[in-house]
Amino acid sequence: MRKQIAAANWKMNLTLSQGEQLLKDIQSKPHTLGANQLAIFAVPFPYLPMAQQQLAGKQNVFIAAQNCYSKKSGAYTGEVSVEMLQSLGISYVVLGHSERREYFQESNQFLAEKINICLEYNIHPIFCCGEPLSIREANTQNAFVAKQLEESLYHLSAEQLKQVVIAYEPIWAIGTGKTATSAQAQEMHAFIREQLTAKYGAATANEITILYGGSVKAANAGEIFGQPDVDGGLVGGASLIADEFVAIINALK
Ligand code: PEP
Repeated sequence: MRKQIAAANWKMNLTLSQGEQLLKDIQSKPHTLGANQLAIFAVPFPYLPMAQQQLAGKQNVFIAAQNCYSKKSGAYTGEVSVEMLQSLGISYVVLGHSERREYFQESNQFLAEKINICLEYNIHPIFCCGEPLSIREANTQNAFVAKQLEESLYHLSAEQLKQVVIAYEPIWAIGTGKTATSAQAQEMHAFIREQLTAKYGAATANEITILYGGSVKAANAGEIFGQPDVDGGLVGGASLIADEFVAIINALK
């Protein structure tokens, strides 16, 4: 059975003490994670040690970085390597978020390099894909997402692909309050799984966790996560509110 994941993406929000308080508040509220369910907190780089400390020993809870660089080490001022993340005990990294693609010009090819280095260091990439509004309006979202998958993931072996979590995030639904309907989410998730099946076979494709992201909140998580090919969510805004994120964790199937 593939993993079900509630992943929080704090983006560039909260001070250190606010972040610490949020993690405390979340822990104080009743939530359960089954054997196959994970909660992941993608926090800003400087908060990684705090989050590791806060959540140390918690079953099925992991801390993620929101980015990493594609090179091992060297003269890349301001960048953070996967070796650094590994040395902190970090095991997940969000890659290719649409904000990084848009504001920092991250291409599918560049993301392929980042994925490779993560896998070299046994760090799981949470690979984000998804189309902008213009592509959705032109009804060409399938081809758009298929290209993202092809250019960033299809050089991987099946064993390597199994280390990757995919997050489908239609850009028009991120931070806009506009959620894809559960049917739209299911349709794209099924399409992604079909593509993976064509390339890697059904056994591998069925093991890949595919998260939905785009204005997930307590009120819609149950319905979205209830779709057969949706294995949880990558959550921005609602992950900054303890009650909301706890409810989202509890909505995992
Ligand atoms: C995200 O940060 O990946 C995201 C989906 O944000 P939001 O939940 O706020 O739409």
